[in-house]
Amino acid sequence: MMFGVEYECRDCGRAFRVDEEEKREPRCPGCEGGNVTIRQARPLPQWIMRKKEAAPT
Ligand SMILES: [Zn+2]
Repeated sequence: MMFGVEYECRDCGRAFRVDEEEKREPRCPGCEGGNVTIRQARPLPQWIMRKKEAAPT
């Protein structure tokens, strides 16, 4: 499963995602600006964790 980091442009408000492997400076695809901020961290939802625990393996 691939994880990405979500960013949001402070100039035009556009949200976009950058793959974690790409370690370069993120740029807004809308206005090409570098004035972006990380949107949020995304832990796994609770129900997925529960499902894993309950799964008989
Ligand atoms: Zn922008």
